[in-house]
Amino acid sequence: MRYRGNVIRPPSEAGSYILQVAWGCSHNRCTFCGTYGDLTFQIRPLEEVREDILMAKSYYGDLRRVFLADGNALVLPTERLLGILGCLKEAFPSLQRVGIYARATDILRKSAEELRDLRAAGLGIVYVGLESGSDSVLSLVRKGCTRDEAVAGCIRAKEADLKLSTIILLGIGGKSLSREHSLESARLVNAINPRYLSLLTLMILKNTPLYEKVQQGLFELPDPGGLLEEMKLFIENLDVRQTIFRTNHASNYLSLEGTLGKDRDRILREIDRALQAGFLRPEFIRGL
Ligand code: SF4
Repeated sequence: MRYRGNVIRPPSEAGSYILQVAWGCSHNRCTFCGTYGDLTFQIRPLEEVREDILMAKSYYGDLRRVFLADGNALVLPTERLLGILGCLKEAFPSLQRVGIYARATDILRKSAEELRDLRAAGLGIVYVGLESGSDSVLSLVRKGCTRDEAVAGCIRAKEADLKLSTIILLGIGGKSLSREHSLESARLVNAINPRYLSLLTLMILKNTPLYEKVQQGLFELPDPGGLLEEMKLFIENLDVRQTIFRTNHASNYLSLEGTLGKDRDRILREIDRALQAGFLRPEFIRGL
């Protein structure tokens, strides 16, 4: 249980033991992301990871949930991940689920068979930061992944029976591409039909290239009302079935949850009410 740098995990992994199998993100180029700063991406030696697992075992005893960090841990070679999953199974007999962050391009680098092997070894859920369905936005923020790659990667994960949790980032198109971001992101999510869908809201961090753009007047974030309108347009254009939807991340101005499509109208009414009443999470309690 030794940690290096910022350690992040999805809200739904709050109760999980976080195991850093790598440090940083192998991409680390997204203009809005300041999580790993100048931390050089490095895969931790298996022996060191095994030692951490044994430390966690002696501290927590048996565990049911583990999350593999950092930023895109699925980039690790499949053999290494299988070795780690084996160690986890051995240490924690009650282990029910292992989660991991992945870029869609990491998924695409693995064959269907490799993904099925990882599933069989205990990997349960993959979290993919799609951010946007607009290729213009993805290119501007240097996501390093196209819309088509995002669809293909996510479908491949689903076909391997991995649960798929996807994330769209409100505000990432700025004011100028807000509408395109909403519509294209809905189109992307419709093509994937993920099990889980979360929205986060962009926060401009000082240690990022996007902050510089804001300072130069080259990027303008929609105001909170504009961000809710962006979310509304996105949800209005969704056509998914049985997708569990949440905006419970601390970056959001409004916390919503439900199952899309059956709760779509109720969620849209809640957004309208928040827009009319101006009842939004105050800035000082927003966070990443
Ligand atoms: S947003 Fe994700 S992929 Fe992009 S730099 Fe940050 S951790 Fe890496």
